[in-house]
Amino acid sequence: MSAYKVAEAKNLIKLDAMENPYSWPENVKQQWLNEIKNCPINRYPDPEARELAATIKKADEIPEPCEILLGNGSDEIIQLLLMALPADAHVLAPSPSFVMYQQVALSLGLTYHAVPLQANSFELDMPAMLDLIKLHQPSVIFLAYPNNPTGNLFNPTDIEHITNASSGLVIVDEAYAPFANASFISQLSEYDNLLVMRTVSKLGLAGLRLGYIAGHRSIIEQLNKIRLPYNINSLTQLTTKFALDNPELFQKQTRQICLDRALVAEQLNKLPGIRVFKSSANFILFKTKNNQATHIFEQLKKRGILIKNLSTQGGLLSDSLRVTIGTPQENQAFITALSETTVTLS
Ligand code: PMP
Repeated sequence: MSAYKVAEAKNLIKLDAMENPYSWPENVKQQWLNEIKNCPINRYPDPEARELAATIKKADEIPEPCEILLGNGSDEIIQLLLMALPADAHVLAPSPSFVMYQQVALSLGLTYHAVPLQANSFELDMPAMLDLIKLHQPSVIFLAYPNNPTGNLFNPTDIEHITNASSGLVIVDEAYAPFANASFISQLSEYDNLLVMRTVSKLGLAGLRLGYIAGHRSIIEQLNKIRLPYNINSLTQLTTKFALDNPELFQKQTRQICLDRALVAEQLNKLPGIRVFKSSANFILFKTKNNQATHIFEQLKKRGILIKNLSTQGGLLSDSLRVTIGTPQENQAFITALSETTVTLS
């Protein structure tokens, strides 16, 4: 195995990690500072983060009788879910998808099945998925909705089909929900084995490390047995609650990011030798001509712009790069630098 590498971004325009590029207006920052001033950091945090959990359940309309469990980022929840499994368990996810599913499964010695998505459409390969489900009865199936790094929403009927066909847990990972206008939350009470995972990272609070998973009370109770007590620190509890109590802060930002996503896609489409994939997330996957992705990545970096080079993963991601939507100025800098690079190459 190799460790999950995070690229050094000092002095670069950072368009590699699906962060929201915007911060808060000064008056909001002041209100927030007034609140954290009184935070009792000499005490342990509320081990159940009750106030924050209640705020999330209300804000995201978690249906009764479902429960939620909070994690130190959804990364921690992925780890928790897989730690709960017996050593001979199987885990399944499409490929390419979020790398942490495989990373954690393998680090725990579990058997991991990566099922290639359909080339071009990046839709689920249903016959292959259903065959493997029948054969191995995976304990956990991860479906990122929208998917990272492809950006598409899988056909929701396929997800329902998989949930019905599976005796194990189906985790619909909605990390990019703020940009997607699609969710399985309202269907949670219809299935015993469906869980929806979310994070505040892409919304604009990546530094806080707060994710959650929602599902049937009996499953959440089991997961809670292996959660470490105080896994959500006091400042994260307080700040996330403060932020979610002011939803208008993010509504404007996410709307802007979605508008800019359309602009960046349009401009990318005009460049020679670039193929763009439709995205429902805050990033765009694009392919270059044969074997040019690494060269383009390096050229952009020289021009001060950091995106993600996926071509090293090979397979469906050969010749692929992923750019996160930034501010209009950052996006323009990216497009300008890329057009200079591709002109040199075409
Ligand atoms: N799920 C998906 C699909 C992601 O892309 C990411 C982050 N890249 C995560 C989960 C992890 O998010 P968090 O910051 O909450 O750990």
